[in-house]
Amino acid sequence: MRAAIFEHFNGPLEVRDLPDPECPADGAIVRVRACGVCRSDWHGWKGTDPDVSAPHVLGHEFAGVIEEIGPTCRRHKVGDRVTAPFILACGTCAECIGGDATVCADQFVVGFSGWGAFAERLAVPRADFNLVTLPADIDDTAAAGMGCRVSTAFRALVDRARLRPGEWLAVHGCGGVGLSATMIGAAVGAPVLAVDVNDAALEMARALGATETLNAAALDDVGEAVRDLTDGGAHVSLDALGITETFHNSVRSLRRLGRHVQVGLPLEHHAEPTLPLLELVYARQISIMGTRGIAASRFPAMFEMIASGRMDPSKLVTKRISLADAGAALAAMDRYTGSGITVIDRF
Ligand SMILES: [Zn+2]
Ligand SMILES: [Zn+2]
Repeated sequence: MRAAIFEHFNGPLEVRDLPDPECPADGAIVRVRACGVCRSDWHGWKGTDPDVSAPHVLGHEFAGVIEEIGPTCRRHKVGDRVTAPFILACGTCAECIGGDATVCADQFVVGFSGWGAFAERLAVPRADFNLVTLPADIDDTAAAGMGCRVSTAFRALVDRARLRPGEWLAVHGCGGVGLSATMIGAAVGAPVLAVDVNDAALEMARALGATETLNAAALDDVGEAVRDLTDGGAHVSLDALGITETFHNSVRSLRRLGRHVQVGLPLEHHAEPTLPLLELVYARQISIMGTRGIAASRFPAMFEMIASGRMDPSKLVTKRISLADAGAALAAMDRYTGSGITVIDRF
């Protein structure tokens, strides 16, 4: 099969013919039809994600068709159109059975624990618990974003922050997950204030339902500016990037009793930012919560939001590229330019 592989971190992605993956006994081989290029891929390529070792094939936002089924996989069949959350949970522990698969202690992470979907074929273990059959009205390209960015934003807002209609939502960072959050916040009925340093991303946020936008590059105190525009502060605020600055901006955006959700992956020196405990957590009584991925069992709720016309993930996709262009798409993430989601749809 053709796959885009890198031999060393930050090195070129080369499209090569590699051996086809073997079908796991409890899994499936998926013929990949679309795969998103996400900032977590960029971290994996840079070498800052501890789960990735080189040489490696990235790609965790896939949609495709089952080509082969393992002998113990019961729920799926050859020919099914599928996707999956990037966390393939064990399906048998107390957390998985209780619906909290994203904190399963025994995770296989697509494109990190093993090789991913920047390839013609992908081996997906634990298929019964994790593979999700796609409705006919969601095309492959739109579905590709649902394995990571759209679903991460959905869980952050709907399941973690429990965002209610009419509550102010601030989104710090309008990359793929921030734009997804903007769209889902608007779908929930929340006024959304989108914050970024890139005017093109802010323009896209408006098109996806943001009621207000702020260019953070021009501001000394982003938190204060958000509080001014949201009548005293956001009820819910997301750091959708994962750097110290956006974390601080997010928690400072909140009103009393506000909820911050950490969505962006905070790596290296961003992993341990300082926190004004007295002013924010004690006096303003804010909550700080984390989120990572989603359980396969929550996909029907997302499909319902799409079927009702309240969100449309295809609106996030601004670039469709071939596998050969995957390396350039990753390298472009060195800078925070461009807007929307890039999807590989030719392999
Ligand atoms: Zn588990
Ligand atoms: Zn991702």
